[in-house]
Amino acid sequence: MPLTPGIHHLTPTVPVHVFDAPKPGPTALIQAGIHGDEIAGVHALCELLEEEIRPDCGRLIVIPVMNAPAYRVQQRSSKGGLDLNRCFPGDSGASARELRLARKFMDLVEDERPGLMATLHESKKRYDPLLPLPSFGQTLVYGVEPMPAILGRTLDRLNARFTGVNEHWDPHYFPVATSSTEVIVEAIGCVGICVETWMGFALEHRIAMHRAVVEILLAEFGVRALKNK
Ligand SMILES: [Zn+2]
Repeated sequence: MPLTPGIHHLTPTVPVHVFDAPKPGPTALIQAGIHGDEIAGVHALCELLEEEIRPDCGRLIVIPVMNAPAYRVQQRSSKGGLDLNRCFPGDSGASARELRLARKFMDLVEDERPGLMATLHESKKRYDPLLPLPSFGQTLVYGVEPMPAILGRTLDRLNARFTGVNEHWDPHYFPVATSSTEVIVEAIGCVGICVETWMGFALEHRIAMHRAVVEILLAEFGVRALKNK
């Protein structure tokens, strides 16, 4: 059953904000803080919630911090915990907290069946396709080909707005089998996008970029008009 509008919880410290627009439309789900040391997306979603972001059409679901214990210690995973983004689709009977949380999130996604699911991350390495190891900073990552059309349109708008040195955004095809993005795309056939800012920028700028990505994605997806063009 889909959730009623309001604030629900996956766990006591993982709230799920559900907003319905007066007009019907698609469902978008935005989440951050799967990795506790990637904080800009968490702050961006908290700011948007404090500013009372609402959908114009359809439903908007926001989970500002997926892995609260990891976020509190500002580490990728909580103390002695698993990498939450390698725990999907999860297991409700597991002893590991992360596997149970991943399963709760999957249940939510299967009930809500969002058409768009975005997860906000950060990376220490600036994206460079020539590097021997993968790098992600300033990319929109997708794990299932072909590249979603909304991803290209969002990149165009981001690159019109962010034109400074190293600010350029690129698409990045990089499947990770047990990540939230792929498992969810496979389970419900939605568009799944992983947003990665580069941590070489100051926190405030990274927060501004995450806000811009979220606002542009929601506009391109048809849930909310763009307020700051
Ligand atoms: Zn991450």
